[in-house]
This record gives sequence, structure tokens and C-alpha cells, in this order.
Amino acid sequence: MFNILIKNVTIITMNEKSEIIENGVVVIKDGEIIDIGNSELEDIYDKFYIIDGNNGILMPGMINCHSHVSMVAFRSLADDAPDRLKKYIFPLEKNVVDKELVYIGARYGICEMLLSGVTTFCDMYYYESEVAKAAKRLGIRGVLGETIVDFPSPDSKEPFGGLKYCEEFIKKWQGDELITPAIAPHAPYTNDDLHLIKAYKLSKKYNIPLTMHVAEMDYEYKKYKNEYNMSPVQYLDSLKILDKNFIGAHMVLVDDKDIDILEKRQIGVSHNIGANSKGAKGVAPILKMCEKKISIGLGTDGPMSGNTLDIITQMSLVGKIQKLFNKDRRVFPAKDIVKMATIGGAKVLNLDHLVGSIQIGKKADLVILETESINMNPIYDYYSTIVYSANPSNVDTVIVNGNIIVRNKRILHVDFNDIFRSLIKMKEKILVAIKEL
Ligand SMILES: [Zn+2]
Repeated sequence: MFNILIKNVTIITMNEKSEIIENGVVVIKDGEIIDIGNSELEDIYDKFYIIDGNNGILMPGMINCHSHVSMVAFRSLADDAPDRLKKYIFPLEKNVVDKELVYIGARYGICEMLLSGVTTFCDMYYYESEVAKAAKRLGIRGVLGETIVDFPSPDSKEPFGGLKYCEEFIKKWQGDELITPAIAPHAPYTNDDLHLIKAYKLSKKYNIPLTMHVAEMDYEYKKYKNEYNMSPVQYLDSLKILDKNFIGAHMVLVDDKDIDILEKRQIGVSHNIGANSKGAKGVAPILKMCEKKISIGLGTDGPMSGNTLDIITQMSLVGKIQKLFNKDRRVFPAKDIVKMATIGGAKVLNLDHLVGSIQIGKKADLVILETESINMNPIYDYYSTIVYSANPSNVDTVIVNGNIIVRNKRILHVDFNDIFRSLIKMKEKILVAIKEL
């Protein structure tokens, strides 16, 4: 951890006033932002290690509110298969997912996130301690939840085994500087009332997030309508398990009554437009949610669903698809989309006191986008440039918790070739497993 001074950048603060500071300077000490200003700071902090941003854009690290990062090992498989979750993904996972795959996939996927400017991610999968280990080694911030399902899973012969794993996982990681343990019942329809309530009680006991897929699937919606005459959100509310610690992924099939519940219970929503559009799930009505001031962040979902793990791609899709869906090009101005990618995501994960904006006292989770590449010019509006011009390859420097993790578009401190080779080797094992499906 250095004392760092970043200069020669335009600072997109994402603070409450959405201030932009041209030719700005940010000063970092012991992992925290201690000063923000212009060149006068260079004389005050003249012993600090200097990062010259070279006229780049300095923005808060982006936040991926929903992922299954280890599933990068399955990327590009069965993209066009119908009813893919039940007929393909669950059987494949049963055959092939083990600790090693989770760790190797997590290492690769986390590198992809860091190289694209993601500094915090929320994840749910099996053997989540392996994801935590990889996150810690690579230096990314993570809200990590062990999956709970009502059938035997890769890490448990017993249904709901994830619940037992959870408690040990929480005890191991709670209080860690980078890792926030969470609880992740997969979905309402892959759990039962008893275990959903148990999971909720565990989240209450340790005051940690509970994340779940909600209102994503047609069959999920039909099940709760037919059996209870309720929507999935209304059903979960009837169990009294919704509160500020709840992070709902997707929230596609929700109506006005559901949105009122989300507002009342202060739920955070991960909007996963890339995965939802590719999976033909529908478009979550986030315009209505924004009007109710519900916290909304962006998520990629697993790389088997959304194929990428970066948030820059999601931002552009949110703008384009939401404008089309609402038939109004005025909705979701670029600034609001950058908010969702940064401070909005931090609010969803209840980490906004630490990250999500460039402010004195917050953790130094920062990204520099270079502005030299052909796609980045001219720049008249920084928010538009970030949302519509930029792509992940423009990410030049990434700092997490005051540590420089990516510099000159290269990941530091780890042998990426080794990470790459392990993932490619894993492909052989997966190809054998597919033949047995
Ligand atoms: Zn998911």
C-alpha cells in the first residue's frame, strides 16, 4: 500500500453534487482518499508516489452487483439452448463443479473484472470460500454468498447444504477488509419457506447481505400466481424476509405493487440487462423503481448468461435498451447510468459509506480510463463518453483499497499466463462432462 498522488486527470467524483474536476489531483494514504483538488496539492504531498493520468478520466471503481464469476469456465457453451438453467446448467454443474473449477474460474473472471475497471463484485456460487480466496489474492473487493438450493449441489450431498456451509464461511470471512460474506438462496423456486426464513435469520444474526435471483423466470412467476395468487416479490414479503440487507437480482417480472414493496422494504436491485436481454427474460421496469428512489446497481450475471463480466458494456446496454423499452430517448441520461454503475451499486451492497464515489474519507477504489484511443474522442460530455464511447480496453489503471492492481492495462502482482493456462486446461474436463449430459 503506497501513498499515492494521481494527477493530470479529469475527476468524475459521483459525489452528491456530481462534481467534475478538470486537471484534478487525488491523494491517497493508507488506502483512503485524503485530499482532492488541483495542482496546488502536488507541493503539499511532494513525497507521494505519482501516477500521471495523462489526461485520462478518473472515476470511482465500478461495481458488479450480480455475478457467478467462476462460471467463466463455461462461457460460450449452449448460448442458444432453451430452458437452459434446468436442462443444461444444473446438470453440467452437478457433473463438473468442484473446488478446483471454482477457484480457477474465479481467478480468471476476477482478472477480467479488474482489467475492465470493476473494483467490487457481488457473487453467488458453490464453494464460495474459493472465490473469496481468489478475490483476496487478486485484491478485489467482494460481497460473496454461498448458494443454497433444494437439491444436492456440487458442494453438498444434502439439499440445502449451502446453509451449513454459510455459517462457517461467514465466521471465516466476517471482518475482512475486502470480503463481505453474504447468504445466497438461489431463488424462491429452488428453496422452501423454512429454509428461506432460516437464511434470512442467519443474515439478521450476522447483519450481512442476503442475495437472491427474484422475479426472473416465467415459470417462477406462474408458480407463485397459481399457488398463492401472489407475485414472487409479494410471496417473499409474506415470509417477512425482505429488508435493507436484501439484494434482489433481476426483478424483471414486477408490477407497481411489487415496486411499492421494494421501496417500503428498502431493497437493493441488481439490474442485469445484458443477461436478461440475451436470455429473452424481459426488461426490468427500473424507470419506475428510480422514481421511487429504490437503490439500483448494475450486474453482469454469470459469464454463461451475460458472457462478459465488465460493467462498461452493461452501461451502454442499459441506455439503449431502456430508451427503446420506454420509447423515450430522454430517459436514463448518461449521468444516471454512471451513477448506477458506481454509487448506486455501492448503495445496493450497503457499501456506500466506503466506496462508490471519489470523496475524502472513502476507500481508494479508483479507475483511470485513457482518452488516447480512437473511440474516446472527441469528448464533450464525460458521462456520455463513459457510457457510449468507452469499452473495457480503455481501462488503463485500477486501484483497490489504495493498492495499484492494474497499470498500463496490465494486471500486476500475479502471473496472468498461469491463470490463463489453468482455465484452458479446465476446458478438457468440461468437454468430457458435456458428453455425459
Ligand atoms: Zn445469476
